[in-house]
Amino acid sequence: MIAEIIAAGSEMLTPHRQDTNSLYLTEALNDLGVQVAFKTIVGDNLAHLTSAATIALARADIVLFSGGLGPTEDDLTREAAALALNITLRRDPAILEALAKRFAARQIPMPPNNAKQADVLTGATVLDNKNGSAPCQYLDTTLFSSDGPSLRKIVILLPGPPKELKPLFAEQVVPLLSASLPPRFLAKRQLRMALIPESTVDARTSPIYKQYPDVETTILAGSGEIQLHFLSAKPSLAEAQARVDELTGRIEAEMDDAIFSSHGESLEDIVLLNLGIRDLTLAAAESCTGGLLSERLTAIPGSSRYFLGGAIVYSDALKTSFAGVPADLVATWGPVSEPVARALAEGIRTRTGASLGISITGIAGPTPGTGPDAQKPIGLVYLGLASATSTEVKELHIAGDRERIRFWATQHALELIRRSLL
Ligand code: ATP
Ligand code: MG
Repeated sequence: MIAEIIAAGSEMLTPHRQDTNSLYLTEALNDLGVQVAFKTIVGDNLAHLTSAATIALARADIVLFSGGLGPTEDDLTREAAALALNITLRRDPAILEALAKRFAARQIPMPPNNAKQADVLTGATVLDNKNGSAPCQYLDTTLFSSDGPSLRKIVILLPGPPKELKPLFAEQVVPLLSASLPPRFLAKRQLRMALIPESTVDARTSPIYKQYPDVETTILAGSGEIQLHFLSAKPSLAEAQARVDELTGRIEAEMDDAIFSSHGESLEDIVLLNLGIRDLTLAAAESCTGGLLSERLTAIPGSSRYFLGGAIVYSDALKTSFAGVPADLVATWGPVSEPVARALAEGIRTRTGASLGISITGIAGPTPGTGPDAQKPIGLVYLGLASATSTEVKELHIAGDRERIRFWATQHALELIRRSLL
């Protein structure tokens, strides 16, 4: 069974509003084992809506409409769905009465326009909307054609406001849909890797996942991270889980310690988890990232047990006074240098009493460095990681703008800490 979502509303064809209902609906449908094959956004225009509805009915088994169920001239979803299905609308007395009561309760006369909210696709089930005036309509029907086979179609009209659509769908539509669809159980897994090119991940993993056509594999790349999502739908949960586990097991063996998480945890989560397992603490001295690494770590609840804190040492003077970097080291080599990264990591470790000290110093651009750093390229970043026994320094060349260089520097720092704890 495949679905199409039609989001009705001219506002979503402007640069100001986005269709977010379809994201919610897609996830809920996937959980029922239904794949969303098409999404359409249409303005409040009867001809356009009817055309979109006709196309959707020809190519999808389940067609969901969001919005356009209000009382105004531009709320046309009911009319368009009826035209595309070639059926009539009936005016429902119970809805009409409920509408009248809503207005009476607010002591205002009901405008005649509102009556059209009681128009229901003939044959549809009406699902009460606790949070608004437009009820949901659910039609499970058969479309007969003169030249082809007759086809089952499920058509669902949902109100546009997310606060109305979501509870209606979760509480009333999901039970109806799951009762009328073949039982399907979903198993999902997610593997995450940092700082590896997407093409490398795909080259190494596609020979494996291509052997599992019944498991949907998606590669998502972004912000120094690659995610592999696996989804299997089967008549039993055990079957679905077994397929996903077998595939993820083989991919874990191939990518080995490049994988930092296999159940959806973030890189920050994993770093803190591994510090906890080894009973270690961490402190940070950040220059070009201005506290971004500390922010990412402290965003995780409970991080205070393993992340002690640190210092933002943006100026040369604070590198010396806060983290004990010898002033002549900065003057000779420049703040963005191997010796300074090393001294910063060691200095913050000793001053805070942490087991590990991490330092980040770099040129985020777009303006070049000063003094001894004037000739160094933008994107040059040094990381230092100091422990009681040794200090490791890493030189990075990060491409992109200031925002990207700063974020990737923290991503590399987290990955450096993670790998040191393996
Ligand atoms: P009513 O007109 O009674 O409020 P409706 O069912 O006609 O309900 P719309 O008029 O289309 O719904 O939308 C009402 C509001 O809901 C919009 O202003 C918008 O803020 C929000 N909305 C509508 N469609 C979507 C969507 N696809 N995604 C996110 N928000 C939406
Ligand atoms: Mg609208």
